Amino acid sequence: MMIVKTIEEIRDLVKGWRAEGLSVGYVPTMGALHEGHKSLMERAIAENDRVITSIFVNPTQFGPNEDFEAYPRDLEKDAALCDSVGVHVVFAPEAQELYLPDKCTSVHISGLTDVLCGSKRPGHFDGVCLVVSKFFNIIRPDKAYFGQKDAQQVAVMKRLVRDMNFEVEIVPCPIVREADGLAISSRNVYLSVEERKAAQVLSKSLKMAKNVLEQGERNAPILKAAILSCIIQEPMAKIDYVEVVDGENLESINGEIKGHVLIPIAVYIGKTRLIDNITYDL
Ligand code: AMP
Repeated sequence: MMIVKTIEEIRDLVKGWRAEGLSVGYVPTMGALHEGHKSLMERAIAENDRVITSIFVNPTQFGPNEDFEAYPRDLEKDAALCDSVGVHVVFAPEAQELYLPDKCTSVHISGLTDVLCGSKRPGHFDGVCLVVSKFFNIIRPDKAYFGQKDAQQVAVMKRLVRDMNFEVEIVPCPIVREADGLAISSRNVYLSVEERKAAQVLSKSLKMAKNVLEQGERNAPILKAAILSCIIQEPMAKIDYVEVVDGENLESINGEIKGHVLIPIAVYIGKTRLIDNITYDL
């Protein structure tokens, strides 16, 4: 496995593969790799001749009071994991390789990014759309793999590809969870032992929501209230949002639940903001 740092080098590699008629899968990450990332890479390897994983803690998607500096970084360990899975190339550019000091282009998707995490983290999705657009242009993958853990990101990526005519297929992958249900996240390392236990409330509340749906409840406000009352029983939890939305356009469902529904939640456990979601088809 190779670790590549420059745009020129990655482009040359991909050109060579293309000349041989090989397909290219791409897994964008910010590193601190775990089983969730691993599942994306394994899927990419199963479906493509060559796989590139990017490891880049993208400064433009962090807000001024977010954890850009503290975000866990360990390229050596991450590269070893990529290698063990069978990834062909890790692309780990420095920020200055991607962003020139006088860059003046932004990529903004309206509507879809004005809700949920987008409304709580202003500018976040602009940063994601900009960096992913750049990676798509640099790598030109056939397929790109994103985790359903970041459900809004998946919806935004699909729209980005559609609206910008990127020649890539977005492949959403299921959420990988710890044994107790907690969605695996690079940010889970911030949790103390007590917080880690308290964090179970996210997946617990969503599991309960799924049961309520299975029992026939179709009223969105009632379902939302049930989730909220489950979460507030955990004293360490502070709710950022709980929503019931259309799975494609992310529009809030305020009455009867039907079609492809997404139930995304964001909850602070101590200072750590965790997200989780379920989807349900009716
Ligand atoms: P990140 O490094 O946090 O930017 O995540 C890179 C990719 O891994 C994103 O597409 C995430 O949605 C995905 N991902 C992160 N955690 C999980 C998980 N627990 N299960 C599945 N995919 C995940």
